[in-house]
Amino acid sequence: MDIGFVGLGIMGSAMATNLLKAGFRVTVWNRSADKYAPLVDLGAIVAGSPRAVAASSDVVIAMMANPTAVLSVRDGEEGIVAGLLPGSGYLDMSTVDVKTSLESARLTHGKGALFLEAPVAGSRKPAEDATLTIMAAGDRELYDNTQPALEKMGKKILFLGDTGHAARMKLANNLVMGGVLTALCEGIALASGCGLDTAQLLEVLDSGAVSNPMFRLKGPQIAANENFPTAFPLKHMQKDLRLALQLAEEVGQPLFATATINELYKKALAEGLGDADFAAVSRVIKSAAGNCA
Ligand code: NAP
Repeated sequence: MDIGFVGLGIMGSAMATNLLKAGFRVTVWNRSADKYAPLVDLGAIVAGSPRAVAASSDVVIAMMANPTAVLSVRDGEEGIVAGLLPGSGYLDMSTVDVKTSLESARLTHGKGALFLEAPVAGSRKPAEDATLTIMAAGDRELYDNTQPALEKMGKKILFLGDTGHAARMKLANNLVMGGVLTALCEGIALASGCGLDTAQLLEVLDSGAVSNPMFRLKGPQIAANENFPTAFPLKHMQKDLRLALQLAEEVGQPLFATATINELYKKALAEGLGDADFAAVSRVIKSAAGNCA
């Protein structure tokens, strides 16, 4: 199977690397050319446009920042859809809203090709280690055909049904992650403000019912207010919270905590933390301390 890969950011670069290491022929395109070198060293072929990637691949995978970025590589004369051949596949692994996915499916089907949305859970390290959770929905035939490639990127791979279900599942997942991380930041800020040892707070959390790998990874960084090496950019978490709220509005489900947490992330974005890891939201919480005393 010849694979195309469009979008070589933190996640896309790691996922394309794993496909190349597994022996797939991979043709790539990215807006910024500085991402190509390590992949070319592994045998990747660089194409001149998303359209050229699709035209030379059995399946083209996209891993884009947000819905706007998906549209910019999907549509137009040089876009993925323009290059799709009948019987080929378009697999969008970006985290986007349902409307974007449904339109991608419609356009793909119009070319006689198959579509699958397949957003992922897991960050930079799981992408590098090929241990992502992949939530897929759309054309079952494409899901079945691409198993050999999906297995080189993820360890838990789920088929969720019709297009839209994977986007919904991913947004529900990230709403929980944003909420839990915010609670951790607030707990650490409160403990620190009370003169407690934050390392001991992390120890207490780790021995109780809310023990989890994210707390073990991010907790010490948040407590130390270190530079936050970017695994999941804060701007993408805010995008996911915004899309979750949009989805909730569509189905009439109030999200009381998520609405507030989204405001916190918007504040972090306004403070220039968009490219930092999403754990950097703790800076906004800590900097508010003086206002509350
Ligand atoms: P990233 O490092 O910011 O990479 C984003 C990619 O989108 C890059 O290839 C970037 O190109 C491209 N892009 C952005 N705006 C564009 C535009 N207007 N036109 C064309 N290309 C554009 O993001 P990432 O962390 O890899 O995340 C990719 C997707 O996976 C996002 O939807 C994110 O929510 C999701 N996700 C991320 C993680 C994580 O932990 N990082 C985990 C699960 C899911 P340039 O290189 O030119 O900027």
